[in-house]
Amino acid sequence: MLTTIDVCEALFANTTGSIRLDVWDTIIPQLRLSNVYCLSPVGIRLWSGQKKISTTINTRVTAEEDKSLNAIAVEDRDEARKLGEEVLEIDNILSVEKVEHFSKCVNCTRKLVQVTSENIVQCDRCGHRMRLSQCKQSTMAKIVAAQEDGQTVKLMIRKDVLKTILDGDINLLGEGEITKKLLMLQNLKLKYNVQSQIVSEIDFSLIFD
Ligand SMILES: [Zn+2]
Repeated sequence: MLTTIDVCEALFANTTGSIRLDVWDTIIPQLRLSNVYCLSPVGIRLWSGQKKISTTINTRVTAEEDKSLNAIAVEDRDEARKLGEEVLEIDNILSVEKVEHFSKCVNCTRKLVQVTSENIVQCDRCGHRMRLSQCKQSTMAKIVAAQEDGQTVKLMIRKDVLKTILDGDINLLGEGEITKKLLMLQNLKLKYNVQSQIVSEIDFSLIFD
C-alpha cells in the first residue's frame, strides 16, 4: 500500500556555502514563517551526490526566543511557489489510475488507511485513535495526461477541484461514476504545480451522451 508523506525543503546558506534541509511530515505544521527555530537532532543524507540535512522521527522543534534573530526580515515565498505552476491543455484525460474516497484523521488530517469495518480507527501517522464516524470524508483522483510530445504527466486532483467538475454531493458519488465523469471531460486546461503535481484548476467542456 502506498502512503504519501509531505516534505518541505529549506536552504541554509552563508558566505561559505549552502546545504538543503528536508523537513518531513509532522514537523511542517510546527514551523511558521518569520520565526526562528532550533531543530535537533537531525540526520545527514547523501542525495544525488549532495549532502542534505533531514528531520527524523526524533527531531524536536523548539522556538528560538532571541529577538534579534526574529527581527530578520523574511521574504514570503508564496509568490515564488506559484511560479511552479503550469497549464496543460489536452483533449482528454489519458487514463485514471484511481479515484478514492477516504477518511481523514481528526488529529493530523492525514488519510486514514482503513483496515477494518470497525468504528474505532487508528491513524498510522500520528497514532491517535478515534471514531470513524467523526472523521471528515475526502476524495482524490490520480490521473495521467499526455502532453503533445507524447510525454505523460501523473497528476493528483483533490476534492476541492473535483467538486468543480461534478454535480451534487461528491461523497454520494461512486468511485466509478467519478472516474467516468473524468474520462468524459473534453478540451481540458489543467493548472497544476510542477513540484507537487497537484491540480489547482480545471477548465473543460463536457461531452453529452
Ligand atoms: Zn493522525
